[in-house]
Amino acid sequence: MSLVGAGPGDPGLLTVLGQERLRSADLVVYDRLVNLSLLGEAPSGAERVYVGKAAGDYAVSQADIERLLIEGAREGKAVVRLKGGDPFVFGRGGEEAEALAAAGIPFEVVPGVTSAIAAAAYAGIPLTHREMASSFAVVTGHEDESKTQSTIDWRALAGGPDTVVFLMARRSLASVCERLVENGRPAETPAAIVERGTTPQQRVVEAPLAQIAAAADTAGIGAPAALIVGEVVSLRAKLRWFDDRPLFGKRVLVTRTRTQASAMVRRLAREGAEPIEFPAIEVNASPSSATAAAVAGLAKGAYDWAILTSINGVDELFTALTRAGYDSRVFGGVRVAAIGPVTANALVGRGIRADVVPSEYVAESLLAVMGEHPLEGARILLARAEGGRSVLPEGLRARGATVDDVPLYVSRRPAAVDPAVVALLEAGAVDIATFSASSTVRGCLELLDGRVDLLARPLVACIGPVTAATAEELGLRVDVVSEEHTIPGLVSALKAHFREVTPDA
Ligand code: SAH
Repeated sequence: MSLVGAGPGDPGLLTVLGQERLRSADLVVYDRLVNLSLLGEAPSGAERVYVGKAAGDYAVSQADIERLLIEGAREGKAVVRLKGGDPFVFGRGGEEAEALAAAGIPFEVVPGVTSAIAAAAYAGIPLTHREMASSFAVVTGHEDESKTQSTIDWRALAGGPDTVVFLMARRSLASVCERLVENGRPAETPAAIVERGTTPQQRVVEAPLAQIAAAADTAGIGAPAALIVGEVVSLRAKLRWFDDRPLFGKRVLVTRTRTQASAMVRRLAREGAEPIEFPAIEVNASPSSATAAAVAGLAKGAYDWAILTSINGVDELFTALTRAGYDSRVFGGVRVAAIGPVTANALVGRGIRADVVPSEYVAESLLAVMGEHPLEGARILLARAEGGRSVLPEGLRARGATVDDVPLYVSRRPAAVDPAVVALLEAGAVDIATFSASSTVRGCLELLDGRVDLLARPLVACIGPVTAATAEELGLRVDVVSEEHTIPGLVSALKAHFREVTPDA
């Protein structure tokens, strides 16, 4: 039984141990402030139980939560109690541990990154600083309603720790600030409120202590939010680093297949963007005898050439190679052709530099470049999607080559479209749409029933000129084409674009 801190919101702030525990969980019991993407770490068969609470409104009572944990542990399940931030900083983690101890259930605590520190960090506010603050306190703002019997020593708090962080203080903000001032904290002390810290939705409002509550109201700051009071808040002017990044807060449509999206999603999230997955194609590869024969052929040197026409093809071919116990050495004596730089790059990732990449990324062009080599009697493996055009195999055969046209996978449109994403597009709430292949442009428009207008507002970014040409042919306005035809290249191009649009913003 593990009490695990999920961190403050940015899923990257889960600890390594926390991730390990999630990956071997049978039952995950989680709260409202937990980033839902972390639930994906648990095995698909694991049970996930939401026991979240909105302020004051308990979806599940504390007693029920404790019972759930105890029963799960007694059934021999690997139970993870996943709590926002650190499990022992507010949020009743201590009580849950007490209940476990009383029930004789062995447990461990996996600390998390508390929002008290992380929200400040992502706002560019160090809680301590050699010249400004040598101590900080983390205080609840929640109990303020029952003023008569406050357990907070306001006089000590106002005069004691240099920096004070209040959690759960959104509702009581005005009275918390008043009490600090009443008890001797100067009214002009710098203060900041950080809403949804560490996430793409982070908002920070700064004002002197006496005015921060009004400023938060004006800005419409909601929960969850942390109030930070102290001289160190003034350092944000110099140390702000997260919420002024070029892609910060931008909603980015990611149209790659779900399996390929994750690298891009992670990269975007690190930039403070909000990736929205909208897989526009689905790749379906089932082990086939043709694929197995192609792999065996490569292994025994039966091919002079191998042609790859997509990243998916590269992925699927290497999956099949690995499954059969081989690696890139089977390409030792084989000339390799890639249809374009994206495919060539995927090959580089597998340790293979393509011998031939045409300057125009189409079958005709590849045929022309390959035609410069002697093809009479050449044995060629054409590893690609099912239903590919016949230009390439026919052209190669006409030049005297033997061609094994091996369908590695089927690429098709996903059966269902996510209505939430369509709603975001309809509301004009998507900032950027990214396309990493022509097939994702086509797939995306098909999923949207051809409604090109839905992609009129977002900035349209394509991985390279071929994808861009497809997008334009289909009626899209293309704003950014990355020079380096890779996912990191595409993200860099987006950053550069927004840096230019809003210099020094
Ligand atoms: N155990 C948690 C705190 C739980 S109490 C932790 O260590 O972070 C819930 C309070 O935490 C909220 O009312 C809010 O004050 C604060 N909080 C949680 N997530 C936050 C975030 N992303 N940004 C700012 N404050 C946050």
